[in-house]
Amino acid sequence: MNVTFRRLQKTFYTLRGKVEALKSIDLEIGQGEFFILLGPSGCGKSTTLNLTAGLERPTAGEIRFADRIVSSPERKIFLSPKERNVAMVFQSYALYPHLNVFENIAFPLRIAREREIDEPVRNTADMLGIDDLLERKPAELSGGQRQRVAIARALVRNPDLFLLDEPLSNLDAQLRTNMRSEIKRLQRDTGITTIYVTHDQTEAMTLGDRIGLFRDGSLVQVGTPDDLYNRPQTPFAATFIGSPPMNVIPSEINKEGDAAVITYADGKSELPKDKAWMLERLVDRKALMGIRPEHISMVTTSESISLAGNIETIEPLGRELLYHVRTGAGNVLVLSSDEELRLGDTVHLLFDSSHIHLFPSEPGAN
Ligand code: ATP
Repeated sequence: MNVTFRRLQKTFYTLRGKVEALKSIDLEIGQGEFFILLGPSGCGKSTTLNLTAGLERPTAGEIRFADRIVSSPERKIFLSPKERNVAMVFQSYALYPHLNVFENIAFPLRIAREREIDEPVRNTADMLGIDDLLERKPAELSGGQRQRVAIARALVRNPDLFLLDEPLSNLDAQLRTNMRSEIKRLQRDTGITTIYVTHDQTEAMTLGDRIGLFRDGSLVQVGTPDDLYNRPQTPFAATFIGSPPMNVIPSEINKEGDAAVITYADGKSELPKDKAWMLERLVDRKALMGIRPEHISMVTTSESISLAGNIETIEPLGRELLYHVRTGAGNVLVLSSDEELRLGDTVHLLFDSSHIHLFPSEPGAN
């Protein structure tokens, strides 16, 4: 089932004034898609999920499930969560402590007065690898097992839409990685349209077919993980996606003969040919140059005019080292496996021009 948001708005009125949690969201999520709502704390992700589930009413706009409108204040339509056939899993597992695993999973079926209980419960438990735990109470389970029970309980009624709000944040790092691949497999096997909220960009990149990146109640970019990583449209997207984050360096674009040149502090680079379309927008203007730490190399002497700086910090990251280099254009992060360089060394930074991103630097552009 596909899900459509049209000019969706949500305003909360509180004693301290009004909060525009969602400003105007337009989005279409396709049938069977694994869609991620990503963004920093307070940007409106959970509000979007709660509006989709029917736990909150929108202030304006519309939500459609396939051709059916499920929320529209203008048309005075609001379907309850039950009428929407959605399943939701939260960060807190919210299991019933006095019921065993079987009865926890069976709960939604009993509420709906379904006749068939045993088979769907056992099939779902089997799918999640918890079929040997059916007699246990939640207190006798690990965090990962509890979250599996919560997911089984959500899926046992074959929902049309599966909503998850930061379901893995209570788990330790190892378990989170395991559960992540299990949720991915489960979603692929069931084909249920899934909307997943997280503030963790790694989770978003590894799980999502597409990601909607939020900031301050607005969607700032929607695309595949590859789109967001390789073609960020704003400095915000550029620095939010990827770890360590992309460097964003104040610069200026000028024409030198036929070439377009980016100047930053004491260095300059030629604008890559495939970015020439940006010239019209940016030439003779200040811009922000984005470059990922893995696309910068460091040399101790340089013939060309490159950005010079001093190594201030070196962080070992396993296979590589993360260098913090203080330059005339601010601090720049560089990933390198060169172990010869030392703290305090003066280095010249060379940017791989095919990986340069440019953003207008006017206020409001990010
Ligand atoms: P987090 O990752 O911290 O959960 P989020 O992106 O999910 O953040 P929301 O919970 O959707 O953010 O909140 C968006 C904005 O709306 C925030 O400014 C929040 O304080 C506000 N908000 C959310 N729920 C309410 C409420 N019931 N009453 C008043 N303001 C609210």
